[in-house]
Amino acid sequence: MKRKTKMVHGGITGDEKTGAVSVPIYQVSTYKQEAAGKHTGYEYSRTGNPTRHALETVIAELENGKAGFAFGSGMAAITSVMMLMNTGDHIVMTDDVYGGSYRLTTKVLNRFNLDHTFVDTSNPEKVKEAIKPNTKALFIETPTNPLLKITDLKKMADIAKENDLLLIVDNTFATPYWQQPIDLGADIVIHSATKYIGGHSDVVSGLVVVNDDKVAEDLHFIQNSVGGILGPQDSWLLMRGIKTLGLRMEAIEKNTHELVKFLENHPQVSTIYYPGRLEHKGHDIAKTQADGFGGMISFDVGSAEKADQVLSRVKYFTLAESLGAVESLISIPAKMTHASIPKERREELGITDGLIRVSVGIEDIEDLMEDLKQAME
Ligand SMILES: *Cc1c(COP(=O)(O)O)cnc(C)c1O
Repeated sequence: MKRKTKMVHGGITGDEKTGAVSVPIYQVSTYKQEAAGKHTGYEYSRTGNPTRHALETVIAELENGKAGFAFGSGMAAITSVMMLMNTGDHIVMTDDVYGGSYRLTTKVLNRFNLDHTFVDTSNPEKVKEAIKPNTKALFIETPTNPLLKITDLKKMADIAKENDLLLIVDNTFATPYWQQPIDLGADIVIHSATKYIGGHSDVVSGLVVVNDDKVAEDLHFIQNSVGGILGPQDSWLLMRGIKTLGLRMEAIEKNTHELVKFLENHPQVSTIYYPGRLEHKGHDIAKTQADGFGGMISFDVGSAEKADQVLSRVKYFTLAESLGAVESLISIPAKMTHASIPKERREELGITDGLIRVSVGIEDIEDLMEDLKQAME
C-alpha cells in the first residue's frame, strides 16, 4: 500500500458488527468480563481502548514501525519515552529542540538524575564527542523549530548502532507523509499529533511508534503505569485528520514554495530559513531523507518592532503558537514558543527578536502573499 492509501485504508477501519465506515468512538472506561480475568482483550481503558487502538495501529503502519502508542499530548509522549531511561543515564539531544522538550529535560528530568548534553546534531562529529559511557539515547529533531536545522538521520543511526544507543526522532515537523525515520534506522519516532497529524487546531495529542518488540512491551508498560493516554474522542479526531494528511501536506508544500519565493524577493527580509532552499544548510540531506520540506518558514525582518508590526497587521495568518493546521499561523518565537529559553541561549542559537515563524496553511496562495505584502509595507 502506498502512503495516501494507507492513510485511508491502513490500520483498523470501520466497525465489523455494523458496517460503519468510521471507527466508533468507544467512550468507555471498563469492559464486561465473561468470568473473572476472562475478557475480550480490553479490560480497562487506560490499558487499552478500541478507538485508541485503531489510531495506534494506523500510526505504526504509517511510520513503518511495529507498535504505536497514543498520549494526551506530545509532551506526555516524550515524557513516557524518556521513562525508558534510568536514573544516571545520559542522553544527547539536538540543541534547538522544541522548547517544551528543553524544559522537560532541564527542569524536570534532571531532578531524577537523567543527564543530558545539547549538541548541534547537524554535525555528527559533535554528536560522537558528546557520547559518554552512560549515554543511552540520541534524541533528534529534524527539521528543528524554528530554524529548520537538518540532522542526517542515517548518520545518527550509524552512531547509535556503534554505541548501542536508542535513536529517538521527534518527527513532528516532517510528518510521516514526508519522512519515515524508522526506515532510516531510528528506533523510536515521536509526534506532537497536535500539529500536522491532527491538522485542524482542535486536539492536543502525542504519538509514538517503536520498531522493536521489547521496546514496545516496555513502553506499553509505561503508558499503562504512568497513564498519560489519549481519550477515545481525541483518538477519533486524529484518525479523521490522518485520512487527509497526504492531501494537506501536498497543498501546504505547494503554498510554502510560493511563499518562500515571495519572501526571497522582499527587500525587508534578511534571512530565510526553509529546508527546501538550495542555500539552506542541510538542504541536500533533507532532500535525500524526506520527500518534502514541510510547511514551516522562519524569516528575519530585522527588529522586534518590525516583527510586531507584521503580526499586528496580518489578516489571514492567525497570531498563535502551534503549527501544522489548515489555517496559516504566525508567531515570534523569541516572545512565544521559545520564551522559556533564556535570552542568551536564544541568541546563541540564532533565534533573534526579529525572527518570524510561519506555519503555512491550505488557503489560496494569492491571499497569503497579498496579506504578507500589506503587513510588511
Ligand atoms: C508542539 C511540539 C511538541 C509538544 O507537543 P504538545 O502536543 O504541544 O505537547 C513536541 N515537539 C515538537 C517538535 C513540537 O512542535
